[in-house]
Amino acid sequence: MRAVITGGAGFLGSHLCDKLLEHGWDVLCVDNLITGADQNIAHLAGNEHFRVQRHDVSSYIDVPGPVDYVLHFASPASPVDYLKFPIPTLKVGALGTHNSLGLALAKKAEFFLASTSECYGDPLVSPQPENYWGNVNPIGPRGVYDEAKRYAEAMTMAYHRAHGLDTHIVRIFNTYGPRMRLNDGRALPNFIYQALTGQPITVYGDGAQTRSFCYVTDLIEGIYRLMQSSEHEPVNIGNPQEITILEFAERVKALTGSKSAIEFKPLPQDDPKRRCPDITKAKRLLNWEPKVGLNEGLRLTLDYFQKQIERVPAGS
Ligand code: NAD
Ligand code: UDP
Repeated sequence: MRAVITGGAGFLGSHLCDKLLEHGWDVLCVDNLITGADQNIAHLAGNEHFRVQRHDVSSYIDVPGPVDYVLHFASPASPVDYLKFPIPTLKVGALGTHNSLGLALAKKAEFFLASTSECYGDPLVSPQPENYWGNVNPIGPRGVYDEAKRYAEAMTMAYHRAHGLDTHIVRIFNTYGPRMRLNDGRALPNFIYQALTGQPITVYGDGAQTRSFCYVTDLIEGIYRLMQSSEHEPVNIGNPQEITILEFAERVKALTGSKSAIEFKPLPQDDPKRRCPDITKAKRLLNWEPKVGLNEGLRLTLDYFQKQIERVPAGS
């Protein structure tokens, strides 16, 4: 089996490369490194089953030879990243998804879309089931990501219905673990970096907004099961253990033994107030549920970040 993974040099894409290689696949990673890093796949150099093509998938994707599966993971994912790259984010969600679907169709391959809980926007229903249509501000700053992903889902379903393409869509909820960028601006790397370096831990708003954090190995297992299922409509994969951002900051502080103060900063526009996956569908269809609790996952991630901080000089 040969897979093309767009965004394979990113945080999640690189773990997916590892997973498929472990299961005996050949993997071609296609990435333009806009938010990814060579370092995430450096351990795969020399593996004869792994290849890398540096390419922007918002332009036509040319892959010689047979392909069995196209997994489209390319997209800036952190709010700081997609606010910095609004147009590339819209393009990779729209044109990148179209090109990836076109590649799958041409190769008679299966297709898998990495979608997001952001499709639910600032949800009026919690926890969010897949049949909730969401509450998205299309013209707000986060719209560049949310609407790109909603378009990507629509385009994927259209290829399934119009061309009979075998497609799958995962709606990923906040996921964390080794290979997240220390400076990607998401709450988890920010809090860990701030706690480990004694800087104030920056909580946006009053910290009453919630998130539900899933450890990366759990997510990748859910994705692997969904890849092999016959489900075509979106499936939530995430950890339903919901926590307020203030409690989360306190948890990171306690686990690191940090003396950092907690500092409140303005809440970004359209920041979702609640986010928690309803995983009934994943449990029923995939017999999947997360296994790694927050404290255990945070300890594993802390080890990684500690080593990164030793490698990277403070402030860079
Ligand atoms: P990431 O930024 O670490 O990885 C994204 C990768 O895509 C990077 O390597 C980047 O260089 C690459 N990329 C972006 N635009 C590209 C383009 N035009 N052409 C080629 N490569 C391109 O982010 P991540 O957290 O690993 O997210 C991966 C996917 O999962 C994204 O599609 C994201 O929307 C989705 N997702 C992630 C989360 C999460 O919690 N991490 C949550 C929901 C959805
Ligand atoms: N957040 C925070 N401090 C930070 C970074 C983020 O309080 O330094 C908040 C952010 O406003 C949001 C939550 O933490 O309410 C999660 O943000 P993140 O960027 O991780 O991802 P999101 O879930 O919003 O996509």
